[in-house]
Amino acid sequence: MTMENIVVVGGGLAGSHTAAALRARGYRKTLTLVGAEPHPPYDRPPLTKSVLAHEEEDTSFPTDWIGLDLGLRLGERAESLELDERRPGGVLRTTAGPLPFDGLVLATGAEPLRLPGTGKQHVVRTVDDARALRPLLRPGTRLTLVGAGWIGAEIATVAAGKGCRVTVLEAGPAPLAAAVGADIGAWTAPWYAAAGVTLRCDTAVASVDPGGLRLADGEFLAADVVVVGIGARPAVDWLTGSGLAVARGVIVDASLRTARPEVVALGDCAAWWSRRYGRHMVVEHWDTALKASEPAAAALLGEDVCHDPVPYFWSEQFGRTVQYAGDHHDADQVVLRGSPEDPDWAVLWLAGGRLRAVLTVDRPRDLVQARRALTHGCVVDVPAAADPATALRDALRAA
Ligand SMILES: Cc1cc2nc3c(=O)[nH]c(=O)nc-3n(C[C@H](O)[C@H](O)[C@H](O)COP(=O)(O)OP(=O)(O)OC[C@H]3O[C@@H](n4cnc5c(N)ncnc54)[C@H](O)[C@@H]3O)c2cc1C
Repeated sequence: MTMENIVVVGGGLAGSHTAAALRARGYRKTLTLVGAEPHPPYDRPPLTKSVLAHEEEDTSFPTDWIGLDLGLRLGERAESLELDERRPGGVLRTTAGPLPFDGLVLATGAEPLRLPGTGKQHVVRTVDDARALRPLLRPGTRLTLVGAGWIGAEIATVAAGKGCRVTVLEAGPAPLAAAVGADIGAWTAPWYAAAGVTLRCDTAVASVDPGGLRLADGEFLAADVVVVGIGARPAVDWLTGSGLAVARGVIVDASLRTARPEVVALGDCAAWWSRRYGRHMVVEHWDTALKASEPAAAALLGEDVCHDPVPYFWSEQFGRTVQYAGDHHDADQVVLRGSPEDPDWAVLWLAGGRLRAVLTVDRPRDLVQARRALTHGCVVDVPAAADPATALRDALRAA
């Protein structure tokens, strides 16, 4: 199938890098990128770190869009999709009108969840969100954050550093409980107190109201600024009626193709089939979105590819670098390397004696060694792995 006119929907990490990858692979015909935001594609992880902290202003990708000969249509939102039943391709309907295509990349990312209520609630998904919140982070401001996940912890770090009086409300029993389990998540709870942040777990919020928040038990908490970091959902509602299979994310195979080979999806909006894990996965991580751009471009151009990364994520919170690699949903054993009182520690998850995932706190070597082992599969010498003084690689043996 020779394509004449490829449209990329979504100008984030995944969409912009797929566009660049298409050109790098020799696609010379019409290429258009439709992005809802008014800004050229930029990087999101710094938003809750250096951008919020005023240490960085512009996180735009250093891409030569003119050199790429890309039709960059910013501030334009895709509203619906009509696929041609007789031939590959169709028409994208956007806020600016119809846009025909014969190849399509879906990379619309995710949108943050919000709480009920009429009070002002901030989220941080876009650079405009971060810029709106930033001037409010002043000494003495009563800032209440809902959600002690990755994003909540990062915002709490910056806000506390700027002298805000920060309270974090978490519905679960511990920070990061949804991501790494309550037992391990609880190891991070002392970080909040040490930074002067009040952490209240098992505290569900019913609504954000003018002047504060209403908790599920009826208590009202006054706040000057409310920030909600309770997760995100794939931005796929606009695909309703397109005929594409959408569950939690656009369903794609291991080569990132939908049931229509001329339509691929990747990044936070895609539920891709992982051969490694034997299930569809929605992974909202920077590394996974970036790694998908090459196979997505190749698949669209008709190559036989397989996207099958080991998920990897990092976070910077309370002066620590936290990194996670793998997938521990089927783990049956946990190995602790150190304790929460140590300045650095790590956790390994195993299934049937084999390494499934790793979490490290300020132990970058452990992360690198485990990540390499996760890619190929390995068995773990548990006593050696449980000794933080032993190099992790010496506790891992090829399976
Ligand atoms: C604040 C923040 C901090 C993060 N920090 C980390 C981190 O430390 N480590 C890590 O691993 N990951 C981090 N992530 C996750 C990482 O940034 C995402 O996984 C990555 O951005 C996903 O890229 P994407 O292109 O799929 O989606 P996005 O980056 O969300 O881009 C999607 C783009 O599509 C646009 N769009 C949506 N709907 C439409 C439509 N209908 N029409 C046109 N355009 C549309 C959106 O406006 C957006 O610009 C962070 C995310 C956020 C928000």
